[in-house]
Amino acid sequence: MRIDLHAHSNASDGTDSPAELVAAAVAAGLDVVALTDHDTVAGHDEAARAVRALPDGARLALVPGAELSCAVEGVSLHLLAYLFDPAEPEFAAERELVRTDRFRRGRAVVEHCRELGADISWEQVQRIAGDGSVGRPHIASALVEAGVVATVSDAFTADWLANGGRADVRKHETDPVRAVRLVRAAGGVPVFAHPGAVKRGRTVSDQVIADLAAAGLAALEVDHTDHDEEARRRLRGLAGDLGLLVTGSSDYHGSRKTVRLGEHTTDPEVYEALLAQATGAKPIER
Ligand code: AMP
Ligand code: FE
Ligand code: FE
Ligand code: ZN
Repeated sequence: MRIDLHAHSNASDGTDSPAELVAAAVAAGLDVVALTDHDTVAGHDEAARAVRALPDGARLALVPGAELSCAVEGVSLHLLAYLFDPAEPEFAAERELVRTDRFRRGRAVVEHCRELGADISWEQVQRIAGDGSVGRPHIASALVEAGVVATVSDAFTADWLANGGRADVRKHETDPVRAVRLVRAAGGVPVFAHPGAVKRGRTVSDQVIADLAAAGLAALEVDHTDHDEEARRRLRGLAGDLGLLVTGSSDYHGSRKTVRLGEHTTDPEVYEALLAQATGAKPIER
């Protein structure tokens, strides 16, 4: 079994459409893929249709999910949510709030970039983002188009879009304890995404992770491109201490990042344990 529980489509900052992501998951030999776009479930229906339309012989389970933008004590973090009821109103309202604030913030970031001499525009960013939940990676792509930086990841420096960088502007982010409770109340399973991704900026303390565990967190995403061996060892130990499961995932973003689907995976027993906790939705299987 090859299980990848973190992937983005163009419903947020990935470059594959949801249907293309499903095809890519089959091509990568995955048995399970989770669609976890930032603060949105907009890709779920298309991905589900694509799974149901797979040819005879192809096998794939699609785990509908999302990745929520959170912050505590000024530190940003991401919370993965799986198999929640997308119609549960409180959680749906919170996703909507974050998505809406992404427009205000996106315009402000573009304005900062222009003041810093980058010839990009909000119209250009909107063209790049399409209907997707708009974020810094779309602005990074605009900076690449304008020749300001060579790659998307080169835009995530203190000079431009990194957390606290010259052009960075914060968006509304949910308190993570509240987010964990919202996910559980919607029947979903919350997992802390890349908790040790230091290259993205400050990370939260072990105490915060303990608080999240007490609030109902299910797992830490340990095997992730942004974690070195030392970080993985540390987080595995912490998960053991707190009674949390451990997942591994690619955090695939199509051509916007270099990581490949299935580059990191989750153990089948862990997947089964996560499924057993979910009451809001079921995987879509072919
Ligand atoms: P936003 O959701 O608009 O705040 O942008 C956050 C997204 O930017 C993350 O989900 C990643 O896809 C991307 N990102 C964050 N840090 C980096 C980095 N250092 N290099 C490349 N992409 C990054
Ligand atoms: Fe992203
Ligand atoms: Fe993330
Ligand atoms: Zn992600």
